[in-house]
Amino acid sequence: MKITEIIKQDRPTVSFEVFPPKTDTDFTAVERAVLEVAAIHPAYMSVTYGAGGSTRDNTVKLAREIQRLFNVPSIAHLTCVGADKERIHTILDNMKDSGIENVLALRGDKPRDFDGEPFENYRYASELISDIKDYGDFCVGGACYPEGYPEDKNKDENITNLKKKIDAGCEFLTTQMFFDNNIFYNFLYRVRDKNIKVPVIPGIMPITRGSQIKRAIELSGSNVPERFKNLVDRFGDRPGAMQQAGIAYATDQIIDLLANGVNHIHVYSMNKPDVAKAILANLSEILV
Ligand code: FAD
Repeated sequence: MKITEIIKQDRPTVSFEVFPPKTDTDFTAVERAVLEVAAIHPAYMSVTYGAGGSTRDNTVKLAREIQRLFNVPSIAHLTCVGADKERIHTILDNMKDSGIENVLALRGDKPRDFDGEPFENYRYASELISDIKDYGDFCVGGACYPEGYPEDKNKDENITNLKKKIDAGCEFLTTQMFFDNNIFYNFLYRVRDKNIKVPVIPGIMPITRGSQIKRAIELSGSNVPERFKNLVDRFGDRPGAMQQAGIAYATDQIIDLLANGVNHIHVYSMNKPDVAKAILANLSEILV
């Protein structure tokens, strides 16, 4: 099922993101955790694509198993890094044969050990999106950054380029994580003002370990509100307490988004079934 069909339904839904293993040796353990998330039947699940395509086969394999075993629609991520058209088309053929109809098309980042120019064939996500739309009947989404993107001069440039992604055929956007919902509401206002009309799905990351917040900020550049810093200061050293507090904070963000009319939420619970289950349990009466 296409993601656009799922999110156009007029009811609140939640999806989860998972990641494939870096090596085939780890596949079974990762698959077990991923399928445990699928077993709670989120609206859909997205499977990331490792830097430089390192997880290419496992991304499609996991996305296929999620759909095959639990009938949960999946979306496979794909990046431009080091990819030529032939390779991208082979992956798309593989997705089609596996029944995967949804792709999150990204530029990706240059891996540290990458030799040469990683964006020779596709410079931007918009070029990849346009190629995927020309190649087959896929529902294609892209990424967006409510707090701006570090390579852009300012937030206006970021949204101007975002519009190019939409014009290339991007049908929905998923945001980078944020910890202050006002940042999302302001972003939504700015994108609508620039005539970007596709659904914008907020991405929420439950922080369940004190050490995770440092890494999450490094990767995303997200602003951390004082209220959240206090929570990490107080509970960061106690794993059980931090997990409970992090899930409560994420739940609070989700409920505020739903209360403000956002219908679909994407949760970066990654390969943690207990976190995904706790979030859904907290929303059990809200999501009916
Ligand atoms: P783009 O949209 O191509 O933007 C990159 C830069 O180019 C920006 O500065 C933009 O303003 C500029 N730009 C874009 N289009 C144009 C244009 N036409 N002309 C001029 N300038 C332009 N990474 C992975 O490796 N694997 C994953 O699975 C993955 N999943 C992600 C999921 C989400 C929801 C998000 C938010 C990010 C994800 N990432 C993933 C990270 C992402 O690949 C990086 O943030 C990357 O640096 C940017 O990707 P993008 O698709 O947003 O790039």
